[in-house]
Amino acid sequence: MNIGIIGGGMGGLISALLLERQGFSVTLFEKEERLGGRLAYVERDGFKIDQGPTIVLLPHLLEEILTEAGISRNDYQIIQCDPLYSITFSDGTRYTKYPDLTRQLEEIRSTFPGEEKGFQRFLEDGKNRFTLGKKAFLDHAFVPKKTFWTYENMKTLLKLKPYQSVKKLMNSYFQDERLQIAYSLQTLYIGGDPFHAPALYSLVPFSEHEHGVYYLKGGYAGLLSILEQELKNRSISIWKNTRVTRIIREENRVTGLVADGTYISFDGIVYNGDYPLLSNLMDMPEKRAFSPSSSCVLIYFGLNRVYEDADVHQFFISRDFKKHMKAVFEDKTVPEAPSFYTFHPSKIDASLAPPGKGVLYTLIPVPSGQHID
Ligand SMILES: Cc1cc2nc3c(=O)[nH]c(=O)nc-3n(C[C@H](O)[C@H](O)[C@H](O)COP(=O)(O)OP(=O)(O)OC[C@H]3O[C@@H](n4cnc5c(N)ncnc54)[C@H](O)[C@@H]3O)c2cc1C
Repeated sequence: MNIGIIGGGMGGLISALLLERQGFSVTLFEKEERLGGRLAYVERDGFKIDQGPTIVLLPHLLEEILTEAGISRNDYQIIQCDPLYSITFSDGTRYTKYPDLTRQLEEIRSTFPGEEKGFQRFLEDGKNRFTLGKKAFLDHAFVPKKTFWTYENMKTLLKLKPYQSVKKLMNSYFQDERLQIAYSLQTLYIGGDPFHAPALYSLVPFSEHEHGVYYLKGGYAGLLSILEQELKNRSISIWKNTRVTRIIREENRVTGLVADGTYISFDGIVYNGDYPLLSNLMDMPEKRAFSPSSSCVLIYFGLNRVYEDADVHQFFISRDFKKHMKAVFEDKTVPEAPSFYTFHPSKIDASLAPPGKGVLYTLIPVPSGQHID
C-alpha cells in the first residue's frame, strides 16, 4: 500500500518512519526546501540556536514514539533541567521551580510564606486530574468522533473543569497574584490565554513538577538530522520544494494528490499541515471558523560568555501581566511592557557556541495577524 504524507514537520517525519516500519511504501512531500517545519535552527559564526521548540515535557512520550519509529536511544540525549526554571517578577522577586518536592516547599516558604498548603493541594488535585485525563484522553485515538462523545468521557471532562479558566483555578490554590501567574502562564506554550484557556491546561504546570522539564542536547532541532538520516537509511522517498495543492477524493476515500501540478495516486494520505489550511486542499464536510492563537517575536543572541547565574529556562513577568495578555489575545495591539521568556542552553550544553561563548533565545508573546508589522 502506498501512503503520501503532506508536510515534513516532526509529525510528518515520525509518521513516515512509523508507517514504513508497518510495511507501507511512503512518500513525503514538503513545500519548503528543508524538512522540520517549526523544528528549525539558525546557524551563524559558530553559534547554533533553536528557532522553535525548546522545552521538552513528558520525555518518556518522546522516547516511546522515537523508539517505535526505529530511532536508537543512543542517538540523542535528554537532560533534566534542575531547577526547572525561574520566574522573575517586576518587583524583583524571583521564584524558582525545582523537580524536588522538599526543595520546592522550602522555596515557597521563603518566597511566598503561607502558600505551602495551597501548593500541596494543587499537586494532589493535579495528580487526580492527570490520571483521569491521561486514561480518558491521552492514551486513546478518537476515530471515529462518536468514540469521544461517550457518557464516561463527558463525566471525566466535567471533573477536569473545562468551564473554568486556568487562572481562575489557580486563584483557588494561591493567594498571591504572582504565584497564580507562575502556575497559569504555561498556556502560553500553546499560544493560549491564561485568563481564558480551560482549566485542563493546569495539567501542564502540574506535569512540570511531577515529571520534570527536560532539554535535548544539541537543541531540539538536533532531532532533525537524526530523523532525516533514518529516512534516508530506509530509502523513504522525500520530495522537498514540493507543495501539495489538492487531495483527490472519490466518495469517502482519498485516492491521490496533486503535487506541483502532477497527479499521484495513493492508497492513503496523512496530512501534517495546520488543520485550518486543510480546507484549501479538499472540500470539507463542515465549514468552521478558526481564530489563530498568539504569535511571537523571537530574538537570537550570540553571547560572548555563558551566564552561569542564569537558568536554562527563565520567565520575566512585566508589571501588568494581565494587560499584556489582553493586548495579545483581545485587543490585538502591540504590548507596551511585555513579559518574555528566555532560553540559555549554553549553561548545560557547550556544543552550541564557540568555546567560552553562549547563545540566548528570547520569546515575546504578541498578537497574530497581518495588521501589525
Ligand atoms: C517559537 C515556538 C516555540 C515552541 N516551543 C515549544 C516547546 O518548547 N515545546 C514543544 O513541545 N513545542 C513547542 N512548539 C511547538 C512545536 O514546535 C510544534 O508543535 C511542532 O514542531 C509541530 O510539528 P508538526 O510536524 O505538527 O507541524 P509543523 O512543524 O508545522 O510542520 C508542518 C510542515 O508541513 C509543511 N506543509 C504544510 N502544508 C503543506 C503542503 N500543502 N504541501 C507540502 N508541505 C506542506 C510545512 O511547510 C511544514 O514543514 C513551539 C513552536 C514555536 C513556533
